[in-house]
Amino acid sequence: MIDLKRAKINVNGIVQGVGFRPFIHKLITDYNLKGWVKNTSNGVEIEVEGVYENIKKFIEDIDKKKPKLSVIESLEYNVFEELVGYKDFTIIKSTDNASKFTLISPDVAICDDCLREMKDKNDRRYEFPFINCTNCGPRFTIIKDVPYDRDKTTMQNFIMCDSCHKEYQDIEDRRYHAQPNCCFECGPVLFYIDSHKNTIKDKVIDYVKQELKMGKIIAIKGIGGFHLACDAKNKEAVERLRLKKSREEKPFAIMCRDLNTVHALCNISEDEKEVLTSFRRPIVLLRKKNNKYDYISPDNNYLGVMLPYTPVHHLLFDDEIDVLVMTSANMKDCPIIKDNEEAIENLDGVADGFLINNRDIHIRCDDSLLYVLEGQEYFVRRSRGYTPFPIKVNFEYEDMLSCGAEQKASFCLLKQNYAFLSQHIGDLKNIETYNHYSEQIEHFRKLFDINPKIIVCDYHPDYMSTEYAIKFAQKHNCNVFMVQHHHAHMASCMVDNNLDCNVIALTWDGTGLGFDNTLWGGEILYGNYREFERKATIKKINLAGGDAATKEIYRIAYDLIYQSFGSINEDIIEDKKSLVIKKMIENNINIYKSSSIGRLFDGVSAILGLKSVVSYEGQGAILIEKFADINEEKHYNFKLDKNDGIIELDWTPIIKEIVYDLQNGVNKETICAKFMNTLVCFASSIAEKIKQETGCNEVVLSGGVFQNMYLLNKTKNKFKELGFNVYTHRRVSTNDEGISLGQIAVVANGGGIKCV
Ligand code: ZN
Ligand code: ZN
Ligand code: FE
Repeated sequence: MIDLKRAKINVNGIVQGVGFRPFIHKLITDYNLKGWVKNTSNGVEIEVEGVYENIKKFIEDIDKKKPKLSVIESLEYNVFEELVGYKDFTIIKSTDNASKFTLISPDVAICDDCLREMKDKNDRRYEFPFINCTNCGPRFTIIKDVPYDRDKTTMQNFIMCDSCHKEYQDIEDRRYHAQPNCCFECGPVLFYIDSHKNTIKDKVIDYVKQELKMGKIIAIKGIGGFHLACDAKNKEAVERLRLKKSREEKPFAIMCRDLNTVHALCNISEDEKEVLTSFRRPIVLLRKKNNKYDYISPDNNYLGVMLPYTPVHHLLFDDEIDVLVMTSANMKDCPIIKDNEEAIENLDGVADGFLINNRDIHIRCDDSLLYVLEGQEYFVRRSRGYTPFPIKVNFEYEDMLSCGAEQKASFCLLKQNYAFLSQHIGDLKNIETYNHYSEQIEHFRKLFDINPKIIVCDYHPDYMSTEYAIKFAQKHNCNVFMVQHHHAHMASCMVDNNLDCNVIALTWDGTGLGFDNTLWGGEILYGNYREFERKATIKKINLAGGDAATKEIYRIAYDLIYQSFGSINEDIIEDKKSLVIKKMIENNINIYKSSSIGRLFDGVSAILGLKSVVSYEGQGAILIEKFADINEEKHYNFKLDKNDGIIELDWTPIIKEIVYDLQNGVNKETICAKFMNTLVCFASSIAEKIKQETGCNEVVLSGGVFQNMYLLNKTKNKFKELGFNVYTHRRVSTNDEGISLGQIAVVANGGGIKCV
């Protein structure tokens, strides 16, 4: 007797816009089942009936054979005895569902099939700049609402032509239900606006290539915003771009035509190759082979490299153009520009022309930026290609919003055990960025249907994110919790590695407000999500004039010298201004206290004469990393003091020895390395003490200072040698961008300070 049954299957995860329903349709035919499939706000729902054996095999196959871009987070089903009597299998219209919870795909780089078609003279999409299919194209940045259907994207105004519609409806076609599907006849159009505001519509790509070859700076509309591009080989053009962007020294990212071009410039491992060519197409920081492009990234040994990811990018490269500088187009500290008018207005005088199109970008999303460490992404910026895919966490809690830090702001929304981390947002002190931040919080809340009643923010009362949290809480009647900055760093790295135990945490960064109302940043903590003890820190540095010292880092050098030698040597005083700084330090006027390793790096950088005034954040430390001799094993002597039960690294012996080395002509490569090696020794000696007291063997590393690869690797190796388990970030940034995830983890696990 044939056992006929019916089954209802719910699949959750990234199952929309990735060819999931056609995949199901094909699988159904293999097993001769009848019924239907539809997108819901929760994912995909399938009902089938037929031979029970086949139904079971079908369900097994869903996970085994799923489409490349899909991610199945859960698959649940119920089996029923009574049959409906379906005659065929159909795809039925999406329904809005009360409890909507869909995962949305990040944007996907053009796939090989589309690339092949685009290069095929006989294909109807030959050189079509918006070619895409179910396996590729924009997603997150064009989606306005869920469920993911064309009319809820910025493609809504482009009505599919007959040919495209046929593909869209054909289950056998690669473009079956590809929402952004289009062609020359029905899709967006590319055009160029030159410096005289003339619009060019014919042979646009050829025209732009000519412009690039002539050294022009072109604003190019991409996936999550505009880039400013110029020929990377043309030093003059790059220098002009620096001038126009007021970006004196900060490295630019480049886009290479292909892997061979990358190979010529950088050393590249198999792991790096894999990440570089993945559909996420991040900017990967690769070691330079030579100093040929030092005018692109003057301060370090890395080049930020990415490969083309849109059809337009591919069309722009040829035999002559093989490396382009591609930098986010924005006004200083403002979010990346996404709209045509916005670009033309704001980049007037910056760009020589605009390569644009009439498909709107709904969501701003910068390129992701990362290192590849032991086969894993190590983020400096987690954004396009990764957002909005959630981080799965090892706890579950009610809906929650965390507001992050301030400068490298991000927010995070928790639903069940999914943490939806925002894309890169930027510095909230800028009003445009703050507005972008608020808009994105609303957008994420709508997309993922998250209604937080608990809001988490930093302990710093003056952060714009804290202000936002308090306003939000008042408006929506929520409870607010504050989490100390470095506790959030620690928790962020813990949850990143699914840890739930006591840990020793090296939380080293530029700044974060401590409970004693001074600025922390050289902290070694011991604890868990709920609580922490501040075990060690560094001797306080006096910042003359507060924030100004983070830019004019010679001010920090003066203080390091003053505290180490008891006076500031007259012959380092350059001008009247520095004389004033000297007086401020000597007389303790307008001084802010900081125990930040980031600041210590700044001061040492200035003492070494690498930089006295930085042109971007972290430059002092980046230069120390650049010069450090990787083979140097020696370190400086240091002293440990105790203050209120907290161990303090007294760095004055280090500074004395550095000055001594300088006077004796020791090269800066050695000094830079010895300085960082000393920090590693300090950290490991403290960790061993904590281990003796507590038995704790787990060490987490978090904070912006660990963007320094020299320090990161030396620290990791040293701790491993000593038998510790060392954890670094894997899914979120080690800098303040990762703070929001840590804030969520602290409060969901019973920590944080409740505000009343
Ligand atoms: Zn494709
Ligand atoms: Zn068409
Ligand atoms: Fe921080």
